[in-house]
Amino acid sequence: MSKKVRVRFAPSPTGGLHLGGVRTVLYNYLFAKKNGGDFIVRIEDTDQSRYVAGAEEYIFDTLKWCRLEPDESVQHGGEYGPYRQSERKASYLQYAERLVKDGYAYYAFDTSSELEKMRNDFKSEQNHTPQYDLHTRLKMRNSLSLTEEEVNKLLADKTPYVIRIKMPEQETISFNDMIRGEVHFDSSLVDDKVLLKADGMPTYHLAVVVDDYQMKISHAFRGEEWLPSAPVHILLWKYLFGIENMPQWAHFPLILGPNGKLSKRDGSKYGFPVFAMNWMYPKTNELTEGFKEKGFIPQGFINLLALLGWNDGTEKEIFSLEELIEKFSMERVHSAGAHFDYDKAKWYNHEWIKQLSIADFRLQIEKGFLPENHDESKLDKIISLVKDRCTLLTDFTEQSSFFFKAPETLDTDSVKPKWNDAKQLFFVELIRNYELTLQWDATTLESNFKEIASVNGLKPGELMLPFRIMLVGGKFGPGVFDIADVLRKEETISRIKKALDIFSAK
Ligand code: GLU
Repeated sequence: MSKKVRVRFAPSPTGGLHLGGVRTVLYNYLFAKKNGGDFIVRIEDTDQSRYVAGAEEYIFDTLKWCRLEPDESVQHGGEYGPYRQSERKASYLQYAERLVKDGYAYYAFDTSSELEKMRNDFKSEQNHTPQYDLHTRLKMRNSLSLTEEEVNKLLADKTPYVIRIKMPEQETISFNDMIRGEVHFDSSLVDDKVLLKADGMPTYHLAVVVDDYQMKISHAFRGEEWLPSAPVHILLWKYLFGIENMPQWAHFPLILGPNGKLSKRDGSKYGFPVFAMNWMYPKTNELTEGFKEKGFIPQGFINLLALLGWNDGTEKEIFSLEELIEKFSMERVHSAGAHFDYDKAKWYNHEWIKQLSIADFRLQIEKGFLPENHDESKLDKIISLVKDRCTLLTDFTEQSSFFFKAPETLDTDSVKPKWNDAKQLFFVELIRNYELTLQWDATTLESNFKEIASVNGLKPGELMLPFRIMLVGGKFGPGVFDIADVLRKEETISRIKKALDIFSAK
């Protein structure tokens, strides 16, 4: 019987969630849902020195915004808790000790100054950063280099120690990665990683393996940056739980920015967001802008992330979450790095904004993208006119502000050079006509406009631009008669009058 699909996203709460992190969440989520499995979020907070207040909450808020809710987590509960590694501390020690007993790991008593000394003593032309490994381990103070009595005495004296894995010499460690195929590592090149720290906390390497085992994880998917750690994890599986019980691995490709691997700094450098939502580093108060606050909607964000490293084998680019669940497969995830293109990202968002209903768009802009003095009664009509012009939710302000407030400046340069008495007279007549109009709607306003133009022997095309600039201030916005319709009679006429004064001024 095949194992139930159980995948996990295992973030360390050290800061905001980067694009790559959310894509890892998404691919895990899609794989779980496609296979009727569970998606688990486990907080990997064993390195307390890197813990950042607020980061855990931020992760869950992001998942909520993206609509990628876990089945089990600190917030969602579940049978395999606790879902925070620091609360599972007691379960790791026995495994670390078992590894020592079986000869796969050892106690190391070195102080930080002894480690420092080793790094200096063994530094050479060929080796700039000597590691604690098969070349150096016997020159250090550990249970491999000391006698049994010495070790027992140190332990009895409560000398602080860590437990390190003893990497085998010249062994090829292999595993099958669902994206990369067979991957091989030379064990001699990997250092003896610490598994248990002096304070009794496991390191990530031990905790990840023990937890994946205890939480019955069937597939462990994560970013490519974790590939170098894989040989240690494979060995721990072999030593502790048996390779046959090991999850299937996959390492997702890097996301590339304009200059290689997309970095958090690229955001401010190139003017696009890198984090899912705004993140403020508590120590420095440095704000990193998020896709959410930049005006992306979850559907667009998810869609663009899904296509950063995957496609369904056709030219199709627009997918809802439901379609992604149906179509997603690990076989189609690329192994090469995926280029992030901000213009393309905005294109996805625009496509999704166009698909939103007026009510859904309204819900989205109500979360902080509405101009302050907006008129509720006109809002739906305005949305229907400008929604499709918004690539980002933030565009709504610029696209709609003239509905709520007369423009402060007019683009006179686009009008004045061609302004003449005939045009001036046309608008004077238009004011008179509009004042008397009983029927105030776009169709009537347009036909009256055209009729007056024709009676005066003018081309309506030449009059529309000045009219638009009178109402909007610039050369943008939806149909000008729709705009006048929404502005109503009094406001439309008042804007024409004000503009006429400006256009006719010498
Ligand atoms: N705690 C690791 C991280 O912060 C998780 C790596 C893994 O999924 O094994 O990304």
